Amino acid sequence: MGSKGREIIGMDVGELLQLLRKAYADEWLAHYQYWVGAKIAKGPMKEAVIAEMEQHAAEELQHALLLTERIIQLGGMPVTNPGDWHKLTNCGYDAPDDPFVKVLLEQNIKAEQCAIGVYNRLMEITRDKDPVTYNIVLQILEQEVEHEEDLQSLLEDFQLMVRAARG
Ligand code: FE
Ligand code: FE
Ligand code: MG
Repeated sequence: MGSKGREIIGMDVGELLQLLRKAYADEWLAHYQYWVGAKIAKGPMKEAVIAEMEQHAAEELQHALLLTERIIQLGGMPVTNPGDWHKLTNCGYDAPDDPFVKVLLEQNIKAEQCAIGVYNRLMEITRDKDPVTYNIVLQILEQEVEHEEDLQSLLEDFQLMVRAARG
């Protein structure tokens, strides 16, 4: 990367790169969990749940893109082997084997909550150290917070609908 751009980073760049690569692995797994979940979702309100999951799948891929661009800018390599996603991930992967919308929502809420924790820590680490990465992480964190709220509000509607049906 540019020498001055590197010089302004007040932390170990190798360490930062490893954290960014781990977040990058999380984003691909999150993308796929949403993407394949949206294909198989079943149950009440599935149209709304599928639409939200498809949107989030696209946004997780966008997060992966933001992270790759910064990794490359810092002189690092993104993860070239998908087999390494599982070794690097912070949040893991919860296969959507049960297509019931309620289960999918719960799984993805858990994943978003993990992502919020990861980006919040990355913000603490880069604050006053690397303003460029800090700004990228902030953009992603804002969207993960939105994702959690979108899914929790769908789950709440689902629960209200079940309650109304019971009379
Ligand atoms: Fe994300
Ligand atoms: Fe998300
Ligand atoms: Mg959304």
